[in-house]
Amino acid sequence: FLRIDAVSKSFGANTVVQKFDLSIRKGEFVSLLGPSGCGKTTVLRMVAGFETPSSGAIVIDGQDVTNLPPNRRRIGMVFQAYALFPNMSVFDNVAFGLKIAGMAKAEIGARVTEMLKLIGLGHLADRYPYQMSGGQQQRVALARALAPKPQVLLLDEPLSALDAKIRTSLREEIRQIQQQLGITTIFVTHDQEEALSISDRIVVMNGGRAEQVGTPFEIYNRPATRFVASFIGTLS
Ligand code: ATP
Repeated sequence: FLRIDAVSKSFGANTVVQKFDLSIRKGEFVSLLGPSGCGKTTVLRMVAGFETPSSGAIVIDGQDVTNLPPNRRRIGMVFQAYALFPNMSVFDNVAFGLKIAGMAKAEIGARVTEMLKLIGLGHLADRYPYQMSGGQQQRVALARALAPKPQVLLLDEPLSALDAKIRTSLREEIRQIQQQLGITTIFVTHDQEEALSISDRIVVMNGGRAEQVGTPFEIYNRPATRFVASFIGTLS
């Protein structure tokens, strides 16, 4: 459904993603896991269209989107934190992309209500971001990303600014919503436990390359390289 085909990205002389290949099935939840600076975010930004690959191609549902701008791709994205519009209510935050897309007002109302119900915050539509916890804000960010019914959901360390307890419950919730909608998802994290607990498959990245692609079981029990073993913590 989503194919990243021999994609490389250089900034000046610095190649941060090298011949990266990945195929993702419709509805699959794939994590990009690796240490800081390994190129995870750059891969995600190329799928979103915020960066253009230096070479290679990105194909979504049969369409080559490599050179399409972000607004011509049907992608929803959630960032680390604090990405809501602070001067807008929860309702208006979720409605924002729908207004831009020119959706009719009544339809927007129905869609926002549906999305807030999905994330369990229907009763907080009139609140402002500063009146909500970090976990609630990230749920609103998720609703905002999902509201236009994107083909692909991109999550860039959406839990890393939250405290441990909320992090665990919200990751379960994200996984549940993802499965309920059957939406193809790429999740970026540097946290191995997080990736092992919610993914269908994991790509372990190092130095802009994929070291190993496999199910959590395979990655944990049969690490292909010393790097994977040590990053996952199975190498003592
Ligand atoms: P982190 O978790 O720290 O964000 P990451 O694995 O997501 O790490 P990237 O953010 O993709 O890594 O960055 C990979 C490398 O590319 C880093 O060395 C970074 O400094 C470099 N880089 C990213 N964006 C740019 C840019 N716009 N210009 C120059 N260098 C960049």
